[in-house]
Amino acid sequence: MKDVGSAGLTKQRQAVLQVIRGSDGHLTANEVFEDARRILPGISFATVYNSLRFLREQGMIGEVLFGSDAARYDRKLTRHDHAICNACGKLIDLDLPIPPELVKRGERLSKFKADSIEVILRGTCPDCVRA
Ligand SMILES: [Zn+2]
Ligand SMILES: [Zn+2]
Repeated sequence: MKDVGSAGLTKQRQAVLQVIRGSDGHLTANEVFEDARRILPGISFATVYNSLRFLREQGMIGEVLFGSDAARYDRKLTRHDHAICNACGKLIDLDLPIPPELVKRGERLSKFKADSIEVILRGTCPDCVRA
């Protein structure tokens, strides 16, 4: 596979990348589509979807999956954790230092060789606590 810098991307893929890099949230494909249309009117959902898959395969964006929820796209590529609001669905990045004992314990219980552990904090965001 040839090396693709963002300069070598089609304008559709650039628009999708721009949307994700410009968002501090974790957009679903639908939300990326809505924003990408503002940059590039006429872009189709299928093109956005294919661009997301391409950018993910190239390691240019991250993907976050929670159970059966829609995939969300993440500009942050390094290991990190997430906090998700049970009331409004807001998803934010969170960096929790993972103690090595936790990784060891996870390996022991699963009999897997661990590459990483990610933590999901579920609760109520400040906006929803106030509401
Ligand atoms: Zn909330
Ligand atoms: Zn994230």
